[in-house]
Amino acid sequence: MPSRAVSNPSATTAEGFCFALAAEARRLLDRFDDAHLAPFLAEWPASGEAVRTIAPSTLPVLRWVADLARGGSERTRPLTTAFAAAAGSLRWQQTYGPADFGPDFLGRYGWTELIGTRGPIPSTALAAGVLLLGPETDYPRHRHEAEEIYIPLSGTAVWTKGDAEPARRAPGTFIHHPSWTPHAMHTTNEPLLAFYLWRAGDLAQKSLIG
Ligand code: ZN
Repeated sequence: MPSRAVSNPSATTAEGFCFALAAEARRLLDRFDDAHLAPFLAEWPASGEAVRTIAPSTLPVLRWVADLARGGSERTRPLTTAFAAAAGSLRWQQTYGPADFGPDFLGRYGWTELIGTRGPIPSTALAAGVLLLGPETDYPRHRHEAEEIYIPLSGTAVWTKGDAEPARRAPGTFIHHPSWTPHAMHTTNEPLLAFYLWRAGDLAQKSLIG
């Protein structure tokens, strides 16, 4: 992808939205006191680094963006609101195809990357973005090399980590998945917007299923 050096991209471009979102995300992350977070934050790109130009793209799952405002918490609301406002200017993508979890899943799933090997803020050491799932959606068990942190921003979903019992996780919960730990999510009556961080692995890997 082409890159260009921009220290202060216009707030009305996709890159500008991503800079603002990344700053808001960092404010949220700095409020957590969890030892797992430190190696991720150590890789956080310095502001003013080169911006990768991205073309906005949409997905069917964005039909639920308007519902996100009522599913957040006080702590996560600023970032939820910022993502909802910027959603139409971001590049929404999918890693899976219809053969993985069926065609219905693709109508209820998508992610957008802020920082990483594909997002507008380049990094080969850290990936950050959000996952969006529609209501009544099963994201089956999967695993990947990268170590992962999730913070649900809006929506209380059922999360399963390894062999642990599935548990409902409210917005603002800190969720850590070590490398190759299988995990799964299931939404019920509300969509899920969850911020993710990846490090120490192939940052563009398609997860292995199961
Ligand atoms: Zn994961």
